[in-house]
Amino acid sequence: MTTETTIKPLARDQAATPTRTERLPLPSGVVPFRPDWANIILIGGYHIAAVLAFLPIYFSWSGLILAIVSAQVVGVLGINVCYHRLLTHRGLRCPKWLEHTFVIFAILCLQDTPARWVAVHRRHHQHADEQPDPHSPLSGLFWGHMGWLMVKHPELSRLGIYDRYAKDILRDPFYVALERNVAQLKINFAQLPVLFVIGFLVEWFLGGTLSSAAMYGVSIMLFGSFVRTVIVWHQTWAVNSIAHVWGYRNYDTDEDSRNNLFVGLFANGEGWHNNHHADPRAARHGHRWWEIDTTYLAVKVLMMLGLAKDVVMPNAHLRASMRGDRLKTHALPVVADE
Ligand SMILES: [Zn+2]
Ligand SMILES: [Zn+2]
Repeated sequence: MTTETTIKPLARDQAATPTRTERLPLPSGVVPFRPDWANIILIGGYHIAAVLAFLPIYFSWSGLILAIVSAQVVGVLGINVCYHRLLTHRGLRCPKWLEHTFVIFAILCLQDTPARWVAVHRRHHQHADEQPDPHSPLSGLFWGHMGWLMVKHPELSRLGIYDRYAKDILRDPFYVALERNVAQLKINFAQLPVLFVIGFLVEWFLGGTLSSAAMYGVSIMLFGSFVRTVIVWHQTWAVNSIAHVWGYRNYDTDEDSRNNLFVGLFANGEGWHNNHHADPRAARHGHRWWEIDTTYLAVKVLMMLGLAKDVVMPNAHLRASMRGDRLKTHALPVVADE
C-alpha cells in the first residue's frame, strides 16, 4: 500500500538560485573530440526523415496524430515510467512481464539499452553540474541537449560504468540479451516494415490504389517511427538541457536543476526537475498543485489496475531542506545497490 503525503516545498525566496560565472569544463576524456559517427548518422538521419514526413507527398493528418499520441504513450511508459522512475530510481515496481513490455517501448524510442540509460542517468545524478556530469548544460546548452551524444566518452564505455551503476539491471537475463548483437537496433528497426504494412493495408482496404496505399504506408512509417522518435528525444533532452538552466527552484539543491513550466508540460512531468533532483527516488515529480505530472498520472492508473506497487512518494530529506539545510543531492541514494 502506498500513502500520499503532502510535502510543502520551500518558499521560492528560500530556495537560492545558483549563479555561475564560469563555464563548466567538459567531462575529461571527450577533448579532443572524437565523433561518434554511428550516433551522428542515426540522429541526423532521423531528423531528416522526420522533416521529409512533412512534405506534401508523404504528409497525412492521421500520421501526425499517430506520432503525437504514440510519443505520449510509448515515451511516457517506456522512458519516463520504466527507464527513469522504475529502473533508474526504483520509485515503483511492476510485474516483470509489464516491465519488459515497457522496456520494449523504450527500445522503440532509440535511447539505448536499459543498462546504459540507467548507468548514464545515475552518473548524472551523482555528479550533476560538476565536471564528470555526462551532459551538464553548464558546459554549453547544445552540449547538454544533444551534443554529448555525438562524441565518444571513454568514461561512459559500457565496461566503465556498468559495474558501478547498472549491476542490478544486468541481473535480468533479458536486459543482458539486449546488450548483445545490436539486439536493440533489430527490435527498433522491426517497427519500420510493421508500420508500413499497417498503413498500406488500411489504405488498400479503404479502396485506395496500389500507389496510394504505398504512399500512405510510407507516411505512417515516417510519422509513427521517425517523427515520434524525434519528439520523444527532444522531450528527454530538454530535461537535461533547459531544466538545468531556466526555471524556478522549490528546493535548495547543490546543483542547478530547475522546475521549468514548458518542459514540465512538454515532457510529461519530467521537467519538474528541481523537485526530482531533491528527491530522486520519488515517483511523483510534481510537488505543487500546478506542477502537472502526467507520467505520475500514468503511474496512478497502473496502481489502480494493480499493476504498480511500492510507489515511493516525496518524503524525508525534503523535510531536511525545509529546515533550511542545503540539500546535498549528489549524495542521495540513486543507485539501488547502495
Ligand atoms: Zn538533472
Ligand atoms: Zn533521475
